[in-house]
This record gives sequence, structure tokens and C-alpha cells, in this order.
Amino acid sequence: MGRPNREPGKLHTDDEIGVVKKDWRNRIRVALVYPNRYHVGIANLGLQTVYHLFNQMGTVLCERAFLPAPGRGRDRLPTTLESRRALKEFDIVAFAVSFENDYLNILRILKLSGLPLKSAERNAAHPLILAGGVACQLNPEPLAPFMDLFLMGEAELLLSPFIEVFEKFPARDEFLEQLARSLPGAYIPRFYRPAYGADGTLAAFTPRPPLASTVPRVYLEDLSRQATVSTIITPHTTFASPYLVEVGRGCPHGCRFCSAGYIYRPPRFRPLSLLEECLDQGRNFSRRIGLVGAAVSDLPDIGRLCRKAAADNLQLAFSSLRADALTPELAAALAASGVKTATMAPDAGSPRLRRVINKGITAKDLLRATEILVAHGIPNLKLYFMIGLPTETAEDIDALVDLSLEVKARFLKASRVRGRMGTITVSISSFVPKPFTPFQWAGMATVPQLKTKLKTIKRALGPVANIRVHSDSPRGAWIQALLARGDRRAADILALALKYDGNWTQALKAAPVDPAFFIERERGGGELFPWDFIDHGVKKSFLYREYQKARENQLTPPCPTSGCHRCGVCPPPGQRDEIVAKPA
Ligand code: SF4
Repeated sequence: MGRPNREPGKLHTDDEIGVVKKDWRNRIRVALVYPNRYHVGIANLGLQTVYHLFNQMGTVLCERAFLPAPGRGRDRLPTTLESRRALKEFDIVAFAVSFENDYLNILRILKLSGLPLKSAERNAAHPLILAGGVACQLNPEPLAPFMDLFLMGEAELLLSPFIEVFEKFPARDEFLEQLARSLPGAYIPRFYRPAYGADGTLAAFTPRPPLASTVPRVYLEDLSRQATVSTIITPHTTFASPYLVEVGRGCPHGCRFCSAGYIYRPPRFRPLSLLEECLDQGRNFSRRIGLVGAAVSDLPDIGRLCRKAAADNLQLAFSSLRADALTPELAAALAASGVKTATMAPDAGSPRLRRVINKGITAKDLLRATEILVAHGIPNLKLYFMIGLPTETAEDIDALVDLSLEVKARFLKASRVRGRMGTITVSISSFVPKPFTPFQWAGMATVPQLKTKLKTIKRALGPVANIRVHSDSPRGAWIQALLARGDRRAADILALALKYDGNWTQALKAAPVDPAFFIERERGGGELFPWDFIDHGVKKSFLYREYQKARENQLTPPCPTSGCHRCGVCPPPGQRDEIVAKPA
């Protein structure tokens, strides 16, 4: 058999992937690593897209690897799914990183693979180690000493020119030098030197001349020309996972806690015709279609897409609904898809706090959406809230409880009509102030504060029939904040966590810098952040203005469809090329 068919949109089964093994020689061998377990990452659409893009290139062979399950000796050696080769045998090891809490797994994988942890300790005998993905695009610095390079932006524009430079310059140092100069979106940490002031804050972040002081992320301006859909179905996921279709990137709403809402700007949606083609293609593989995107219910043609899915007897699923965008048609489509639980995210309990976070939905929207969902036969609801938001008071926590009870009352009433009563899950997570959001200046609440708030909520809602309260660990969120907000010195704490085999208590105790300095400190208006060198297009002054507006309980309207230059991402006509970086 020849090479597997890698046409866009063509699904690859594990059988087809098996053919790739014969192409091992005379290729650039890329191990694409998801730093978590197989079942967590295998269906990840970003991972599948990168895998597909690499394997589309004639000169590249890409295989996937995951964090090995606990075992002993050889069992723990991370190997690729396709050829069972160790990562050491590849030319490039590329980590796809979505979550900060997976950083420790990256170090575990390097260690288990027998690869030196730090970039400075590796040489021509070792694979090139790189990372990309949303977590790194927010703040790569806690991982900086461990990576040879990062790729910032959307893979469709980065991978091909990256491989071209790799082919042209086989010597590692020369390759990195050339890449830094020629590929917008390439960040090579060794070429940037941080300096700290007497108060411990970052004083300077200096590039090696002639490099620019900022690294632009690159993004696809127009999504209408290509689809992003599932490209792999394995025997393990064919029936468990839906066929995924990305409807768009970015979100117009500007919730002030949401980093994805800022770094994926401008909001871009695919046209209905292309999405309909994706559904037609997907039905050959699965009856379940998962719509992926930060703002699926904002898709202008969502109603028509739902109608098509219903007519084709397809089940549609998507992660979260905006209560103010829910229509009876959408609810009917979800119900017809067999959806048993609808998720909505009020995020905060009181109208005041929802204004602070720029969440423009009201209790009325939520109650109306509850009625519509139950009336259409969706028996369960999930409500997402955060605790520890900036300016939050005890009254806001009480309001969260009251709103949940109000939703329950409306839910009961609507359910009685249908003679069936489901469950409301109130899901509580601890707020982490993320880079590139207006709240990047805010300090995070302490773990005891978060625990007290959680206790209040659980005491009030725990005994209520048909309500279940779920929460994440405030301490886990606190460590996530360290990795999201830390500078290059946080890498030392990460290395300690590896040394103590994931025991963060010991690692934090031995930390050379006080972690609270990164996590809980309210930052100065003029402070230089470790991530400021990444240019996502959003002006820092815009984010700071948004932070001030949050403190004044003021809303900012969503992105208009055109003619707006508010945040700096959409340039005035004629200046587009300066902002939308194109690979060399
Ligand atoms: S410039 Fe305006 S439309 Fe463009 S991303 Fe920013 S706020 Fe949205």
C-alpha cells in the first residue's frame, strides 16, 4: 500500500494510520504529544488538526503520544501510538498544550523519555522540543527553560513555514536563529532575557538584537476557505465520540474573565454553506455531530444548521449555551439530538457582579431559557458559576444561591407540566485571573477565602432536592494561577514539583520565590507582565480601561460586525497587513 490518503476532510482510521509506519525513513519525524492521558486528549480537535496538517506535508511523518498510564519500567516509556517508538527517536517533539495544569506532565514525559529537561542541556543528539496551544499563547514563561521554541497562533499558518525552515537549516542553533528572524509567531526563549527590579517585578524583557521586542501571534483572517473537522476516528472513539465540526473562532462578548475571548479576536464564524458540507461529510462517520467554538450559539445561522441536522436525522451537541441566545428552535434541535443536559453559564449570581465581569445576561434570560429547555424535553440543567471574582462580596455569594433557587423553582414548575423532574447541577469553579484579560491586574482570592465561599454555597444548596453542587479544588486553581501568571522563575517551582513527584506542598515550601507574589498580588497599572511580549493585537490600554470599567460596574457591548477599532485587533482599512501577521 502507498501513503495514506491525507486529503482535507478525509477521516483516517487507525488502520490507515498503520500504513504510515512504512514511511518512517527519509521523513522529518514529528512526535505530537498531548500531555495528558489518551482518553483525555484523543478526541481533541486541535490535536487532530495539527496531526492532519503535519501529515499533509509530503516530507513529514507525524505520530501521536500521550502521558503513559501508571506502570513500571518500560511500561512507563512514552511511545507513539502508531509505531510504538520512543520520543527520543523523533526529530521534533511537539507538545499541544491546552491547560496549565498539564505543565507538570510535560516535564514527566521528558523525564520518562530520558530527555534532558532544559533546552540549554540538549544538543544535536536530541529532538527539537517545542510547544503550542492556548496555554502557551497566554504565558509561555513558566515553561520557557524547558522548550527550545514555542509557536504562537493558529497552526494552519505556522506549521508549513516552520517545517520549511527546519529543512533548510539542519544545524540547531542556526535553525533557531533563522526561525526567530523569519517566522512571525515563533518564540525562542533563549533569545530573550528577563531582568527583575528590586521589588521582584519584571523590569525588562530584552531580545537579542536584531529581534523585535514582541512576538506576534498569527491567525487565519478568513475561515470560510477551510473546514476544521475530525480527521481521525479510532476503534476506541467511533461510537463514544461525536464527529467534531469547528463553527468558528473567537467570541464577540468580551467577558472580562475569559482569555479565549481576547486572544482569539476577532470573532470569526464559518459560513452556513461550509458547515452544511461538514455535516454531510460527518454523517458518513457518525450520527452525532459536536459543534465546537467559543460561542456556538452566536453562530448567525445556528437555527438553519439545527434544521438541517434534524432533517438529516443527525444529533447535534455543543458545550455551552448563552441563555440570551436560546430560541425554541435551538432547544428543539438539542432535544431532538437526544441532549439530556443543557449547560448555561451565568458565571456570577448578582446583576452587579455580572456587570463587573461583562456578562450581559440577566436572571430573566436564564429563567426564560430554563422554561424553554424543560418545555422541549431537556430534563437536566447545568449552571456554571465562579467564586472569587474581583469585587465579590458575601452578598454576591448569597445572590448565587438565590439565583440557583429561582432557577430551580422555575424548573420545577415547567417540569411538573411534563410530569418529569430532572436535576440541576450547580458547578462552581474558582476564578483564576488570566493573562490578556482585563482582570490580569487583579489578585486571586486566597485558598481559605475560596473555601469559605464554597462552604456557604454547599451549606445552602447541598440539602435542596434536585440540586447537586459540584466544585473544583480551590488549591488546584491556585496552582493553575501560579503557572498562568508566573514569570520564568515559576519554572523553578515546576521543576521542584517534578522532583517531589507531584507533591506541590513540598515544592511550594522549597520554592525560591513566594508563589503568592505571582498569584495573589494586585498588580500595578504600569507593571510589565511576563507575557507582554506576545502581541495578540489587543491593546493593553484597552484591557486596562476594561479593568477600570469593571470596577465601576460598567458594561461594554459585544463586538459589532464591522467598523470597530475599539480593542485594536481589527485595524482601520489599509492597515490590515501590519496587524495580521503573515508567515514569511
Ligand atoms: S476591534 Fe472591535 S470588532 Fe474587532 S475584535 Fe476588537 S472589539 Fe471586536
